[in-house]
Amino acid sequence: MSSDTELIRRALDAARLAGPDDVPIGAVVFGPDGTELARAANAREALGDPTAHAEILAIRAATGVLGDGWRLADCTLAVTVEPCTMCAGALVMARIGRLVFGAWEPKTGAVGSLWDVVRDRRLTHRPQVRGGVLAAECAAPLEEFFARHR
Ligand SMILES: [Zn+2]
Repeated sequence: MSSDTELIRRALDAARLAGPDDVPIGAVVFGPDGTELARAANAREALGDPTAHAEILAIRAATGVLGDGWRLADCTLAVTVEPCTMCAGALVMARIGRLVFGAWEPKTGAVGSLWDVVRDRRLTHRPQVRGGVLAAECAAPLEEFFARHR
């Protein structure tokens, strides 16, 4: 488990778990040693839950696996699309050490596009961030989804 590209490829695999009505976004949480703790796809429609974004579901599952209470210190979250404000807030709250994401999301992105929640200096925890990894590959499933649902 080395490169950020590999992490994003795993997140792309996770995106395929999305149901037919859900926007295909995938997230994977890796532990401090690089092992995969949990993966999830966006399931907002499938669960009827506005908070069921891929990042939130993966974070919830990963805390149970890591076993350090609610903390995911020194863990890495990889997600196919730039997180929204809710998910950016959640990964700060979880003390995620590092965030890697694929496509930029100019309409809702909270990691540099519209806001920059994770690097706000008023917060005491700020994860390391790398965005734009395999951006075109990560945007492709979204473009296909929206072309089908238009
Ligand atoms: Zn979100």
